[in-house]
Amino acid sequence: MVLTHAHPDHTGLAERARDKGGARVWVHEADAPILQDGPTSSVVHAPPERRLLSYLARYPSSTRSLMQLGHAGAFSSDRVCEYSVFGDDEVLAEVPGRPRVLSAPGHTPGSVLVSFADRGVVFTGDALVTEDPSVGCSGPRVVSRMSTHDSAQALESLERLVDLPKETVLLPGHGEPFTDGPRAAVIRARATGVR
Ligand SMILES: [Zn+2]
Ligand SMILES: [Zn+2]
Repeated sequence: MVLTHAHPDHTGLAERARDKGGARVWVHEADAPILQDGPTSSVVHAPPERRLLSYLARYPSSTRSLMQLGHAGAFSSDRVCEYSVFGDDEVLAEVPGRPRVLSAPGHTPGSVLVSFADRGVVFTGDALVTEDPSVGCSGPRVVSRMSTHDSAQALESLERLVDLPKETVLLPGHGEPFTDGPRAAVIRARATGVR
């Protein structure tokens, strides 16, 4: 299992797959401290720029989407007890499909894009989403400051997508797949900016 980053809504079943199914779990070394200390530790290791309450007041529709996420267990996944780390831009040769991880820090320090070039797909995690549950808005974008460690860096990291082949399908951590090409996604995300 390759984690795009260590937030609990993305570690999900990783610990169960590792413990019961013998899966190996991979994460970028910069997100290892979050994984190490468990689901609530992103607040310590990669604190978000803004507080939750101000978002609930400004974006009332976020209450519903966050509750849906919570109800689905997004914030209560088990701590991953053992994992392997990778660095920037490595090919994970042991992982089926041999994906390349492209570092895209900002949302968390160790956020990555996971690229299966021969399949024409890139998993973007929360480095680029097409729906942001924390503001209840859709369209290609970086995640709001409520869940992001460094928004300026997150916007800069979108550059990693620009040179991917235009037929590449983006599979975000939140929202529908994006099929209009990585460059179009980046242009729209930059135009939307940071919420
Ligand atoms: Zn996240
Ligand atoms: Zn997420």
